[in-house]
Amino acid sequence: MSAEKSSIEGVGPLSTTASLVVILGTGGTIAGTAANAADNVGYQAAQLGVDHLVQAVPALASHRLEMQQVAQLDSKDMDIATWQRLAQAVAAHLARPEVAGIVITHGTDTLEETAYFLQRVLAPSKPVVLTCAMRPATALQADGPQNLLDAVVLAQDARASGVLVMAAGRVHAAEQVQKAHSYRIDAFRSRDDAICGVMEEGVLREWGAWPRGVAVGLDRIAKPADQWPQVQIVLNHVGADGLLVEALVGLGCAGLVVAGTGNGTLSERLTQALLQAQAQGVRVLRCSRCDAGPVIGGDDSGLPSAGTLSAVKARVELMLQLLA
Ligand code: ASP
Repeated sequence: MSAEKSSIEGVGPLSTTASLVVILGTGGTIAGTAANAADNVGYQAAQLGVDHLVQAVPALASHRLEMQQVAQLDSKDMDIATWQRLAQAVAAHLARPEVAGIVITHGTDTLEETAYFLQRVLAPSKPVVLTCAMRPATALQADGPQNLLDAVVLAQDARASGVLVMAAGRVHAAEQVQKAHSYRIDAFRSRDDAICGVMEEGVLREWGAWPRGVAVGLDRIAKPADQWPQVQIVLNHVGADGLLVEALVGLGCAGLVVAGTGNGTLSERLTQALLQAQAQGVRVLRCSRCDAGPVIGGDDSGLPSAGTLSAVKARVELMLQLLA
């Protein structure tokens, strides 16, 4: 995929020295097309370039924009090499004084992982807004254009900061956001309902805190993708035993995230297998398979908690820790 750049400029009400928004395209359903406009599931993701997505939203003509296609994929296939390219592109554009913020068009399936990854790597003070769509661009009720417009407005808002997700009118923080529905247009929620705000007719109404934290930095993620530590996710469930854990350790896994039941609880057999893995040098993080809430206490089990992180985000966290 070439990293082509193009730009359109307009004289919008927000045209100040730092009003430029860079839109990075990565694919997803927002760039998807179907042969039949009434077909909301039988489509190909990642077909249209980011320039095309912008041109389909007339209201964006009054904003200062620059577009760059970083990747073109279905986000179920998002990978570490693309994450590295994306993080580098975001960091380079954020360093430009004329840039107010970044928008990233992304598939919905792994958007929460990319958002958390970028937040931990860059912890940006300017807004970096991921946006998406549940319906392809050709659908009768395409949701991408409104999401894209809202994302650009959010990226220009001086109150916003950190890595955010703009979808169906809600502004989510990278750490809390998760895809919670497989089909509905309003598919995203924030854990414990901790959203940052809402976008109403192009006006941001703030509700909660913006993402904060210390960036681990680009140097941490510089290693070639095939040398990144292997971190896998296992699950507690009725009858959970240690079979998978033993197999994964045997295959050379460096880290294991375990999604426990309730408050991170694990069957006795799974606990023993994980303690054994830890004793062999494998790093373990324990989270909950519940949709919300932290894992509180229980560290006396010898298996450290991932706090409020979901399993997929705990996996990102553990990879970044193992890269240190
Ligand atoms: N499979 C698509 C993707 O994540 C789904 C979507 O974007 O809604 O790229």
